[in-house]
Amino acid sequence: MTVYLVGAGPGDPELMTVRAARLVTDADVVVSDRLVDRRILALVRNDALVLDVGKHPRHGSPSADQAEINALLVAHGRTGACVVRLKGGDPFVFGRGAEEAAALAEAGVPVEIVPGITSAFAVPALAGVPVTYRGVATSVTVATGHDVDAAVDAADAASSRGTLVLLMAVMNREAIAGKLVALGWSPQTPVAAIERGSTPRERRIATTLQRLGDVRLEAPAVIVIGPVASMLRDAE
Ligand code: SAH
Repeated sequence: MTVYLVGAGPGDPELMTVRAARLVTDADVVVSDRLVDRRILALVRNDALVLDVGKHPRHGSPSADQAEINALLVAHGRTGACVVRLKGGDPFVFGRGAEEAAALAEAGVPVEIVPGITSAFAVPALAGVPVTYRGVATSVTVATGHDVDAAVDAADAASSRGTLVLLMAVMNREAIAGKLVALGWSPQTPVAAIERGSTPRERRIATTLQRLGDVRLEAPAVIVIGPVASMLRDAE
């Protein structure tokens, strides 16, 4: 039977698609990521099997873990159960969803992608920050902050009239901000950082490129760099 690769959205169950919500409540097996909100897992049937395969960034070898997850999905897919692979946000935005889809296809297990609302756009929007704005930000670049140089290259390729949205950048935020300033970005460029968007523990921090390394910030967070960041509402 088909394995569904489902985007769970940024956290709030109301921000799942109708299709995602239906599949989560119907599933026999749910294979979930660390980022998936508890309130969403609470919708799973009591008699369903829930497997948490959340990877902790600092533990173990990620590629080995990923191979195990792929094998797990293939094995459950072959049993004929309704398998939902739940991922935070959208399954094809930095979630390694495409690799899982490829592994399933290669094993001959049918796979269907159910797109989700990505945190990259939804978390800023919920906090009042539009990633594009006529005349102010005419493009948006979404980059991973996992690799400092890749993030800096992506930022620099985006025009100064664009918005840079960084995911997975909490650890490297100081290094990225420092390199951008060294490349000529204004140290006063507005930055909005939103931790745990759409959850009861959400935090909103307004800062600047220069001060980004000094503010307290915990993962998961979305960091928005550019003029639109000054539109952040209700920052602490
Ligand atoms: N596929 C996901 C992204 C996976 S990468 C998506 O489309 O949203 C994981 C990163 O996403 C986190 O490190 C963080 O930067 C961001 N993220 C996901 N959910 C978030 C949330 N509720 N609040 C803030 N950041 C979030």
